[in-house]
Amino acid sequence: MKAITVVPGRPDEVRVEEVADPEADGGTILVQGLLLGICGTDADIVEHGYGWTPPGRDRLIVGHESLGTVLEAPAGSGFAPGDLVAGIVRRPDPVPCDPCARGEWDFCRNGQYTERGIKQLDGFGSELWRIEPQYAVKLAPDLGDCGVLLEPASVLAKAWDQTDKIFARSSWRPKVALVTGSGPIGLFAALMGVQRGLEVHVLDLQDTGPKPQLVADLGAVFHSGDVKDLGLRPDVVIETTGHGPLVAAMTSVVAPDAVICLTGISSGTHKVEVGLDEQNKSMVLENTVVFGSVNANRHNFEQAAEALAGADKGWLERLITRRVPMQGFADALQKGPDDIKVVVDLRQ
Ligand code: BGC
Repeated sequence: MKAITVVPGRPDEVRVEEVADPEADGGTILVQGLLLGICGTDADIVEHGYGWTPPGRDRLIVGHESLGTVLEAPAGSGFAPGDLVAGIVRRPDPVPCDPCARGEWDFCRNGQYTERGIKQLDGFGSELWRIEPQYAVKLAPDLGDCGVLLEPASVLAKAWDQTDKIFARSSWRPKVALVTGSGPIGLFAALMGVQRGLEVHVLDLQDTGPKPQLVADLGAVFHSGDVKDLGLRPDVVIETTGHGPLVAAMTSVVAPDAVICLTGISSGTHKVEVGLDEQNKSMVLENTVVFGSVNANRHNFEQAAEALAGADKGWLERLITRRVPMQGFADALQKGPDDIKVVVDLRQ
């Protein structure tokens, strides 16, 4: 079969090559790959050397945002040929630590978790892939190609799930949400905020291209400019840019008792001067929570599937702004100004 293979940190080594079909011990479900979504993590692997090849190998089959059709599945597995599926990314560490032992691999405590297409396990960037039923998620057939959005949506389903849990600490309920960044992650954060009945505001640097309209069509408000000039005091912030100076400004912008969830990372090296004592004082006096959120467990993938099923299909389709054949993977890593989600067609 054909697969997209990479060597972390070597953009000159991206290849589409013939590799052996996946071994039966890779999972009892055999899947025909349909689409592969591309995100900043893939670019980070190829360009900056994030990611790890499987032990004893010098190349990794890349790709963690999957969509495929089941070709073979064992009886009683809950899956059947023709089902539309996506794969969960992370696998528990081998020890396993307490959270991994309970299926909460997104909270792995010893760092020995593995991730398909990222950390020591081949990904989904191939014509065929295998998976175990417990790591496969069935999608509503009418979701079609938009099923490739499940994995990025699962990361936000976790972020919101954790945020909801933190708000359970007191009896008041948040009303105003601010999402910083309007890439795919920011747009899913906004979608899920709207689905929770919140007044959602989205801030981005860029106010051209399709993003302002996509935000407006959710019933949310698009802003560009400095977060301090928005005249907003959000109860909840879902930060998706990973831009340090923006993160540092956030505690002085939010309402009392706010929750700020950080989901973005960047390879930047920004330094800013922050009045730490002042910041500490305001966080203590206002019960502010700032927390990070990564990855997603099975429950979060199921929450994401529900969120996608509840979204307007036409709106989801507009998030897929470019499709490339397998040979175009390297191009797909370069985001154009109007790109939201670029996908690789694994049948071409
Ligand atoms: C993926 C997560 C993964 C994280 C860190 C993200 O792009 O969506 O599943 O845990 O990268 O590797």
